[in-house]
Amino acid sequence: MIGVTVLGSTGSIGVNTLDVLARHSDKYRAVALTANSDVAKMLEQCSACLPDYAVMADEAAAETLANELRQAGLDDIQVLSGEAGLIQVASMPEADYVMAAIVGAAGLLPALAAAKAGKRILLANKEALVMSGKIFMDEVRNNNAVLLPVDSEHNAIFQSMPASYAGNMAASGVRQILLTASGGPFRSCELSELDAVTPEQACAHPNWVMGRKISVDSATMMNKGLELIEACWLFNAEPSQIQVVIHPQSVIHSLVDYVDGSVLAQLGSPDMRTPIANALAWPERIDAGVKKLNLFDIARLDFEEPDFDRFPCLRLAYEAMQQGGTASAILNAANEVAVDAFLNRRLKFTAIAAVVEQTMKGIEPAAVTSLEQILSADAEARQFAQALVH
Ligand code: NAD
Ligand code: MG
Repeated sequence: MIGVTVLGSTGSIGVNTLDVLARHSDKYRAVALTANSDVAKMLEQCSACLPDYAVMADEAAAETLANELRQAGLDDIQVLSGEAGLIQVASMPEADYVMAAIVGAAGLLPALAAAKAGKRILLANKEALVMSGKIFMDEVRNNNAVLLPVDSEHNAIFQSMPASYAGNMAASGVRQILLTASGGPFRSCELSELDAVTPEQACAHPNWVMGRKISVDSATMMNKGLELIEACWLFNAEPSQIQVVIHPQSVIHSLVDYVDGSVLAQLGSPDMRTPIANALAWPERIDAGVKKLNLFDIARLDFEEPDFDRFPCLRLAYEAMQQGGTASAILNAANEVAVDAFLNRRLKFTAIAAVVEQTMKGIEPAAVTSLEQILSADAEARQFAQALVH
């Protein structure tokens, strides 16, 4: 049996992961589940999966969970709490694989712990890689961890790259990576309408059902910006080697353009269980419960160039990656603060990009020498962005 720790099990990716694991209970077992504060959902997942450990990042929630598990006769499940608990289950020997599906910067240290422990990491938490780039990739390499992308585009690129790809695009005959984007819910509305966009409208993604933070990121296209940075680190590419392509149907999940003129792509129904199952079973294939793609129903596929005036966050992410050093961590932190303020109706939709841009201008990025430096750039950018929001 392969033991799997699911970081962020109560979220959108977490729930889809447990669905795939349950379809293959002869092969995989969830050894640890983690969440921030949703005790009810965690209790339900614990009853269904019977993991060895359940971790609540929030201390009070951990106490409530422990009581409820006792009442339900599930006190074999050990309850841990806080960042220390997350790190423990991400690095313990029982976990062969670690699904990194916490949202935002909170997922960085647990994901890094999995890298240091040499795990197979199924990476959904793109913010971790955006923040720590080279440090994360070095930990993976130095500890023989295996890093497999779960983000659908990066999983598509991974599947379209040569199987032996070792980080040299030129040597592999790869000319360019084409990173597809749906364009989100505001791809074609009047620009003047964007000021009044509500959290409900921003979270209503046309093709995917996801957590609230990534839904807003998709609406601003910061998500594609973060994915551009993620792709640069995963595939050792320069920002100029990656072309973002708006593809509203979300059927092609990304493409790789080779020097001989071949363009390889991965297609599929928009369902995260496909990349999750791919990363779990790689290099094999397992059933993911996903609806078969019907090309006759889809009938046509459209493509557009991205519009940087409509989506300034995408431009800011290109700039952050080009600046290098702590710039991406600063971009990410300011974005997390701004998105949270927007979701709590304290900031206009169009002000998200303004807060990120002003934070990037206000804080000088530095070359990365240590993890501590990244964490302090993250903290400084959060403080700066908070002040702007106020
Ligand atoms: P979500 O909001 O649905 O779930 C987030 C999970 O993280 C929950 O289990 C929550 O309890 C946990 N969490 C939140 N804050 C935490 C904290 N401070 N400490 C510990 N745990 C915390 O988010 P999601 O949509 O599942 O996305 C998770 C990650 O996967 C994100 O990085 C996102 O960008 C990425 N991703 C998601 C999708 C998708 O389809 N949902 C696709 C690609 C990539
Ligand atoms: Mg994606």
